[in-house]
Amino acid sequence: MTARILVVDDIPANVRLLEVRLLAEYFDVLTATNGLDAIETCENGKVDVVLLDVMMPDMDGFEVCRRLKSDPATSHIPVVMITALDQVSDRVRGLEAGADDFLTKPVNDLQLMTRVKSLVRLKTLTDELRLRASTTRNIGIEELLSRNFASEDITPKVLLIDERKSSFERVQKMLRGSADLDIATDPHAGFFQAAETPYECVMISTAFADFDPLRLCSQLRSLDRTRFLPIILLAQEGEEGRIIRGLELGINDYLMRPIDQQELTARLRTQVRRKRYNDQLRASVTQTIEMAVTDALTGLHNRRYLDSHLQTLFDRSVARRRPLSVMITDLDRFKTVNDTHGHDGGDDVLREFARRLRKNVRGIDLACRFGGEEFVVVMPDTDGAVAEKVAERIRAEIAQMPFAVGHAGETIEVTVSVGVSSVLKGLDSVAGLMKRADLALYEAKSAGRNRVVAKAA
Ligand SMILES: [Mg+2]
Repeated sequence: MTARILVVDDIPANVRLLEVRLLAEYFDVLTATNGLDAIETCENGKVDVVLLDVMMPDMDGFEVCRRLKSDPATSHIPVVMITALDQVSDRVRGLEAGADDFLTKPVNDLQLMTRVKSLVRLKTLTDELRLRASTTRNIGIEELLSRNFASEDITPKVLLIDERKSSFERVQKMLRGSADLDIATDPHAGFFQAAETPYECVMISTAFADFDPLRLCSQLRSLDRTRFLPIILLAQEGEEGRIIRGLELGINDYLMRPIDQQELTARLRTQVRRKRYNDQLRASVTQTIEMAVTDALTGLHNRRYLDSHLQTLFDRSVARRRPLSVMITDLDRFKTVNDTHGHDGGDDVLREFARRLRKNVRGIDLACRFGGEEFVVVMPDTDGAVAEKVAERIRAEIAQMPFAVGHAGETIEVTVSVGVSSVLKGLDSVAGLMKRADLALYEAKSAGRNRVVAKAA
């Protein structure tokens, strides 16, 4: 795993110490000895994780962290605070400043490495989502991405898997008001509950009499539905080895008993905040891509998608000397459908037409709504004669059974005219191909509708 780690400490010897240990693990290391330099490095460079000393003159680590986390350009970079103080209040202060983790000097080697690796993994995921989000921006729908990411006020839904009554009751009490907490006392039942309910975090106690809690962690990580679900381990003093193993398995955080209420709520908040950020990025990306290329009414591809893909399919067909055909279909006298049955009736017809069209084309064919009542199907590896047969099959399928409109069991006769064209050997172009299909469609209409006309090559 190559990642770039920024080490920030006002004492050069401390910087050097961490640098050497990180270099030994093949990380790239950047360094800074004061807060302002650290912030500038984060703004300019590609920093994956910041290891941040708390006690520094001028600007302390809390303030550096707060500034990094409040700037959208740097807020997604994980920050680990490092301090000589082992005070819970400092830990909470750090987490409240937005720190993702906290390590105490002298820093335990294994703990440092597993923490850094675990955060780098999460950062990689966020980076990929951010990249995709910014790429889809080019498709043109920006408002989805400019959506506000703030959703801190919603109480998170959390599952605690813990068989000890005294222990889960204590946690229950601590989280009253800050989480909507479910308890599972059986780890197997807890696993299914986590998979079936949209939790935002799962806390797993290590104190089972007869069960390995890390097995549960690894099961949750291997299931698609819970792969990105944050896991917090509630561990005991002396379980460092287990925690490190857990971090390697992909748990996100841990707390040592006795659990401090402030630390618990702060760590939970950090996990939920990060999950919501990634979930929203993921959702905007998916939604943006779908909206950008799909016709909302019929679920077929839209014209924008056709425009961007037809040229590719055309070039491929020419390069491989394989046939390619296109059909343009247009519902006959569609205006009268709208006039008699309203736009809802018209929409019913368009949806049903799309359904029958889809049924009659292959998976590799590109079917899309071109606009209004006009649909286009691009058929790779298909010559004109075959395309004409497919078109005829679609025409017959439409004419043969009336379309239902509205909910009253009313039906209506629908017919379609189809123009077919195929790529010509020698000089041809997408524009020429589409123009010939359009002319064929025009001929079908003039000749009385409800028919297929193919332009022979
Ligand atoms: Mg210092």
